[in-house]
Amino acid sequence: MSTVTEIMPTYGRLPVSFARGQGACLYDADGNRYLDALAGIAVVGLGHAHPAVTQAIQRQAETLLHTSNLYEIPLQEQLARRLCEISGMENAFFANSGAEANEAALKIARRYGNERGIENPQVIAMDGSFHGRTMATLTATGNRKVHAGFEPLLGGFLRAPYNDVPRVANIAENNNGVVAIFVEPVLGEGGVQIPADDYLLKLREICDDHDWLLILDEVQTGNGRTGRYFAYQHANILPDALTTAKGLGNGVPIGVCLARGPAAETLVAGTHGSTFGGNPLVCAAALAVISELTDGGVIERAAELGKRIINALAKNLDGLNHVRDVRGKGMMIAVELENPCTDLIQKALSKRLLLNVTTDNVLRLLPPLNLTDDEADEIVDIVTSLVREAGS
Ligand SMILES: *Cc1c(COP(=O)(O)O)cnc(C)c1O
Repeated sequence: MSTVTEIMPTYGRLPVSFARGQGACLYDADGNRYLDALAGIAVVGLGHAHPAVTQAIQRQAETLLHTSNLYEIPLQEQLARRLCEISGMENAFFANSGAEANEAALKIARRYGNERGIENPQVIAMDGSFHGRTMATLTATGNRKVHAGFEPLLGGFLRAPYNDVPRVANIAENNNGVVAIFVEPVLGEGGVQIPADDYLLKLREICDDHDWLLILDEVQTGNGRTGRYFAYQHANILPDALTTAKGLGNGVPIGVCLARGPAAETLVAGTHGSTFGGNPLVCAAALAVISELTDGGVIERAAELGKRIINALAKNLDGLNHVRDVRGKGMMIAVELENPCTDLIQKALSKRLLLNVTTDNVLRLLPPLNLTDDEADEIVDIVTSLVREAGS
């Protein structure tokens, strides 16, 4: 057991630490190799110690780390332009994490409402969602465990079940104060729940009919994770704003809120800010990440690899009574079991595989997007034996 007492115990940590990483592998101080099927929770999409990202960080560290947003930052402008080209958005606000990117998006929604004379603007957020740990984002989060002990929560949120269009349509009929829908394209922490193919399209239509903003939380699903740069690109729609963070810096802390149309005109001088947000170091890293993702065929490869892993797991686990579902989109992959299976985290660790369990009974894989075929097969083999053993 760990005896660390100087760290606030907000995490139950596994008794292992890593000295270095290379690609999809981590090594402890004794040189033991672990296969990383979690990638720092969907952060290290290009794998550990990726040479192009390392070089971008090294060069920028030798040149200029930080100047503040009181001055122009050419690298930030370049990164904003690149993200807008990819997303179809018009401008960007840079923050340092997913929660902070979401704070910017929620502030956009409120200001959008207040500017239109809506006295008590409401944002619809979904059951089972996860949006972060700040007061606004934990309030938006559809999970009582995240709320517990932090009351009073913020006002201004309405709830709907995930993947339930009629309930949102019903709210639309009965509420005048709604200004936005805030939703993940795939629930990440909420158990890798994949909605109906037309879910975002239907939400888009409701937003259009009522002048609401459609705001997507792509903190986890963005940056190639689901096999497209952004997950909404599977659905042929454009949101009014979106956030992303985790995979954008491949380990360097960066978050961004992108917007278009009226949502892009809302945060003007003096209404929002960040000391660190979008500094030269993180922007140089993110630009290198985007080049690798888009020029290197990594996203297409992620789509392919995801299918390979999901199909192999579905085949290997077919017919097992204790397995409820094998599902995924790109490299966001889940095996849902009948019963709680958090013990599998430790069991996987003893087989030198890093993975995660969400919502107690969903084994979750978020590996680097550029695994080799052999690494993908190794993950499949270990997960197959873990899940088989869990049923015996
Ligand atoms: C991880 C996550 C967040 C929070 O990001 P932080 O960087 O931890 O603040 C928000 N939304 C989603 C969908 C996430 O997966």
